[in-house]
Amino acid sequence: MAGTEFIENSPETKPFWDATAAGLFVLPWCRQCQRTHWYPRGVCPYCLSTALDWRESPGEGEIHSFSVNRMRKEPYVLAYVALSEGPIMLGNVIDGDPATLSIGRKVKVVFKPTSGGPPIPFFAVR
Ligand SMILES: [Zn+2]
Repeated sequence: MAGTEFIENSPETKPFWDATAAGLFVLPWCRQCQRTHWYPRGVCPYCLSTALDWRESPGEGEIHSFSVNRMRKEPYVLAYVALSEGPIMLGNVIDGDPATLSIGRKVKVVFKPTSGGPPIPFFAVR
């Protein structure tokens, strides 16, 4: 996507971006309660454990909620996607006609390059 610029990194998110640079989509996973969560952070939001790992994910899910922004020449879609592992992730749905989208539509992570940073995950209709 033209104009997409990578602007943020932190110790909590670095493993995620390192993975996307390798073409992998990973999610934080807690060894204590064995649940996946999103977004990356230093403690598990369910049990407050700091025993966290990263697990590769197929990046599949379904649209939980979405809106179509028509303020630009090209409309774009911002959606909450319920990932198959459970967490809900905010992202852009980048392909297909926004008029055909619906809650429950299956989507999958695809990566788009940035200028000067790792690729960023977007969602494409499956
Ligand atoms: Zn936990």
